[in-house]
Amino acid sequence: MQIKNQLLDLKPYQPGKPIEEVKKEYKLTKIVKLASNENPYGSSPLVKLAIQQELEQLALYPDGYSATLRDKLAKHLNVAENELIIGNGSDEIIQIICRALLNNQSNTVMATPTFSQYRHNAVIEGAEIREVPLINGNHDLIGMLHQIDENTKIVWVCSPNNPTGTYVDRNSLLRFLEKVPTSVLVVVDEAYYEYVTAEDFPQTISLINNYPNLMILRTFSKAYGLASLRVGFGIGNAEFIKNIEPARAPFNTNRFAQAAAVAAIEDQDFIEKCLQLNIKGLQQFYHFCEECKLSYYPSEANFILIDFKRDSDEVFQALLEKGYIVRSGNALGFPTHLRITIGTEQQNQEIIERLKEFIH
Ligand SMILES: *Cc1c(COP(=O)(O)O)cnc(C)c1O
Repeated sequence: MQIKNQLLDLKPYQPGKPIEEVKKEYKLTKIVKLASNENPYGSSPLVKLAIQQELEQLALYPDGYSATLRDKLAKHLNVAENELIIGNGSDEIIQIICRALLNNQSNTVMATPTFSQYRHNAVIEGAEIREVPLINGNHDLIGMLHQIDENTKIVWVCSPNNPTGTYVDRNSLLRFLEKVPTSVLVVVDEAYYEYVTAEDFPQTISLINNYPNLMILRTFSKAYGLASLRVGFGIGNAEFIKNIEPARAPFNTNRFAQAAAVAAIEDQDFIEKCLQLNIKGLQQFYHFCEECKLSYYPSEANFILIDFKRDSDEVFQALLEKGYIVRSGNALGFPTHLRITIGTEQQNQEIIERLKEFIH
């Protein structure tokens, strides 16, 4: 059998190490996983109740259109129902967009390092990847504009950017959108939107009427704490969404995911609490970095990228053996950094203590 050539150079996605595996390997009983930017406080208590009710319906397909969730989201975001596309995580929206727009005649522009799935899915579609290095952790939007030509189909802007936690401010994004040709889709991935505190962070949803080539991605996996259920969504021009819908798999989001997301939206107090705790958690890490003279990127997300000025696998391994799973920067394009998810106050304190022991 012969698979597509472009798959030969690809590796499957490398997630953070699973808890059970680390327990066994290092004979540990307690593991703290701060590797995948999951919510350390779980999800709203309303979610479990909603899921229990769905247990009676196991034999039935979910609603392929996610009508209830769609209605809830549309009201919550103040958009029309047909300006939404709902996916099996925002990962699936990325896949759908790539399937719908890219082929081996096209190219796509993105930052590097950024979230790996833009590149991954574009490679599978056979497209040329044009990567523009970050400048001091920030998107080089001007450099990205220079890479756009008549074969460019998609430009990706990850804001806050994974793995740096940096963001694109309102004026920079507006100037960028003004210059991108309307034939090129601009995807702004806002997976960490709920954690943002910067006052000049753009309210992108209000821009979709002016820019029909703009698509915003959000997810229930991070602040909403529903990563296991796989549900994310895109917001964009209704006509465009109608045109890409055939690339979406039928029944792509399951009953539990839909019901859980509906319940999660209802509990905005939970989101607000998590945001406040995340701000405090970030302060713990900033304080640590300043005390130990480590450089880091100020983060608008629930993770922080810290430069340890040595092979990141070494620091990663030292933490792992003590039961703390983080992400080594090696796989993320930052070979001397670690990306650490902001945990609870206690978890942050523990990991900071372990890091201090290691670097001193
Ligand atoms: C986590 C993450 C996603 C994927 O989220 P899912 O909805 O769980 O698929 C997308 N984009 C970025 C930048 C992320 O960090």
